[in-house]
Amino acid sequence: MEVFTSVQSLRQFLRQQVLQQKSIGLIPTMGALHEGHISLVEASRTDNDVTVCSIFVNPTQFNNPEDLLKYPRTLDADCTMLENAGCSAVFAPSVEEMYPEQTVLKINFGALESVMEGASRPGHFNGVGVIVSKLFNMVQPDRAYFGQKDLQQVSVVKRLVSDLSFDLDLVICPTVRETDGLAMSSRNRRLSDSERSIAPHIYRILSNSKEDLLAGKRVDEVLARAKNEFASINAFTLDYYEVIDIKTLLPINQIGKAGTNAICVAAFLGPVRLIDNVVF
Ligand code: AMP
Repeated sequence: MEVFTSVQSLRQFLRQQVLQQKSIGLIPTMGALHEGHISLVEASRTDNDVTVCSIFVNPTQFNNPEDLLKYPRTLDADCTMLENAGCSAVFAPSVEEMYPEQTVLKINFGALESVMEGASRPGHFNGVGVIVSKLFNMVQPDRAYFGQKDLQQVSVVKRLVSDLSFDLDLVICPTVRETDGLAMSSRNRRLSDSERSIAPHIYRILSNSKEDLLAGKRVDEVLARAKNEFASINAFTLDYYEVIDIKTLLPINQIGKAGTNAICVAAFLGPVRLIDNVVF
């Protein structure tokens, strides 16, 4: 497995691959890799000749300086996992390499970023839009892999690809969970033992809400029950809990056809902010 830190060396490698007619899959990550990331690598290996995983903790998508500072960085362990997973190349640039000068471009996703993560983390999706565009231009992949766990990011990136005519296919992969239901996340490493033992309630509450909605309970009742449950567990501070239409990302009062609804949650456990969702 090749490890590149400069855009130039990455491009040189990729030019060789393209000359040999090899297809390229890209997995953008911020590192501190887990089985969720590896599932994207596996999907890419199935579809492509060459799999490139980028590892870059992108400062411009963090609106909370402490979250950026404390974001886990484990490059050596990440490279071992990627090598074992059969990844072809890692792109792990420095901040200076990615941003030789401060970007002046601002990407506004309109209504898609006025809710949930966009509302709670102002500027977050501008940062995501810019870094994902840069990576798409640097790697020029045939396919790019993203996790359903970041449901709003998926919507925003779909829109980015369509609005800017990026010539690639997006592949969206299901959320990989721990055996107790907790969605795998790099931020889980920051949980204390007691926070970690409480964290699976997030998925339990989501799953109960989904069942209640499918059984015909009213959205407002289901929301009230879930919010009460979070309130009853002291360690949680709920940021949002929404039943939405996955196309518009807007809250709904009544669920629609199968596959068009989602319940999305963001909650703090101590200082760590976790997100999750279920689509149904
Ligand atoms: P991150 O490193 O958190 O920016 O995530 C990089 C990519 O991995 C994103 O497309 C995420 O949606 C995806 N991802 C993160 N956690 C999971 C998970 N538990 N299951 C599947 N994909 C995930």
